[in-house]
Amino acid sequence: MQPQPDRIPPSLPTEEELRGRVEAAARACGVDLEGHAGPREGRSPVTGTVVSSLAWTAADEVPRAVERAREAFLDWRVVPAPVRGALVKRWAELLTEHKEDLATLVTVEAGKVTSEALGEVQEMIDVCDFAVGLSRQLYGRTMPSERPGHRLSETWHPLGVVGVVSAFNFPVAVWSWNTAVALVCGDLVVWKPSERTPLCALAADALLGRAVREAGHPEALSQVLLGGPEVGEALAADRGVALLSATGSTRMGRSVGPVVAGRLGRSLLELGGNNAAVVAPSADLDLAVRGIVFAAAGTAGQRCTTMRRVIAHRDVVDELTERLVAAYRSLSVGDPSREGTLVGPLLDARSAEAFRVAVDRAVADGGELLVGSERVLEEEAPEAFYVRPAVVRMPAQTEVVHTETFAPLLYVMTYDTLEEAVAMNNAVPQGLSSSIFTRDQAEAELFCSAEGSDCGIVNVNIGTSGAEIGGAFGGEKDTGGGRESGSDAWKAYMRRSTTTVNYSGELPLAQGVTFEV
Ligand code: NAD
Repeated sequence: MQPQPDRIPPSLPTEEELRGRVEAAARACGVDLEGHAGPREGRSPVTGTVVSSLAWTAADEVPRAVERAREAFLDWRVVPAPVRGALVKRWAELLTEHKEDLATLVTVEAGKVTSEALGEVQEMIDVCDFAVGLSRQLYGRTMPSERPGHRLSETWHPLGVVGVVSAFNFPVAVWSWNTAVALVCGDLVVWKPSERTPLCALAADALLGRAVREAGHPEALSQVLLGGPEVGEALAADRGVALLSATGSTRMGRSVGPVVAGRLGRSLLELGGNNAAVVAPSADLDLAVRGIVFAAAGTAGQRCTTMRRVIAHRDVVDELTERLVAAYRSLSVGDPSREGTLVGPLLDARSAEAFRVAVDRAVADGGELLVGSERVLEEEAPEAFYVRPAVVRMPAQTEVVHTETFAPLLYVMTYDTLEEAVAMNNAVPQGLSSSIFTRDQAEAELFCSAEGSDCGIVNVNIGTSGAEIGGAFGGEKDTGGGRESGSDAWKAYMRRSTTTVNYSGELPLAQGVTFEV
């Protein structure tokens, strides 16, 4: 039984409490706050008040950081991969030791409820585990040569400096997906975190820094550059950055993608999503409701994989909607660090305004607002933006439904045939995550097939969010096409050399070509 909203005391922490928590957690992770002090104020979405004052890196300092990394790369690339893995193993131990400290910072700066903040740090530990195993499995292939006495093979080598630009909503996990894999691949990372989550970045980087120092590896293995988009732009433009891995809005991807391509660099883009669940007539509705509510309202709708659309069969849409509305009414909105809270704050006033505008547009397009959308706790914290997650039943997928609104706003639509449902799933510009709730195996298989969902993530009987690190993560179309984390995503962080060794004593040419001199 979920707690009822009115059973959660509405009080929020005071500014002093919040600052106290932040300072204690940052120091525990080894951050020298005085050393980083500066004029840039950081606000917590929990109260809307200032929780940090830090120095930022100027964009013109980026080339120096990249150069430091390039110099350190010369040594790091020849360290055996399993030794690099041992560093990542130690980093995972430190993350485990400081899981709660880091999660506290994630809650304060990104507004995630405690269990999701802890989950984010767990994901870092998981990806480290994965990378440690990977450090002994960076396999190349051997192919049969067409020439006698020749051996043909592929070897994977370190790539160089990886620039990481990350978003506010996964302030530490996304960096670790990149960094754990990049480090075992023999690369170094220069990180530009979200300007909204600088303390998370300093703390996460400090833990890795400690592991690096203990092992006596070069300090430039991982550098963090606090700053705004201009620092990300400088990283994108720097020819010393072999791979730019950028996570954020499609708008950001459209800006950095051409810059990296213009210098013929590599980019890995993880951008916006607009994720749907198809609910078929045979679906287990208990399961569907739970899966949908977590994916749509969890993290206050601020995940790239947040479910934004439900496409329900005409036979079940009324009952499903009724149950969703009841579940939404029981959602507790408030202080994300308080036990029982399921929905924390939106990031800021801009997010709240985008939410309000999208709800209004959906209603203007003929949608019926069934539940939610109210702002709450406004008197207690006028600078914090808590909203009740909303469900709007839409007559069609209008333009507002095609847009990613980074807030807990769920559109419910109706379909008659599975082909129609798949077409609706695929009709949006983004292609990150999708799911189908069904007990009909043929329907499930079709949804996962080449004729089905066009997304990078295709789930059956679970929601769209909460991916495991073992699979490659990412999406198509406006989501950018990048893949991170598990499976063979590591190949993006390495360069491949194809080697032919001739041990025959003759010089036969490929394709039977003769060239006698
Ligand atoms: P954002 O695009 O505003 O910022 C993301 C990062 O990019 C920040 O570090 C920012 O400073 C930087 N940046 C912004 N403009 C830039 C530019 N022109 N050049 C270089 N860097 C620039 O995104 P946000 O509000 O922090 O995060 C929310 C967005 O991120 C949503 O669209 C969400 O779907 C997306 N996201 C995607 C994934 C994924 O894996 N696909 C994961 C998390 C978030």
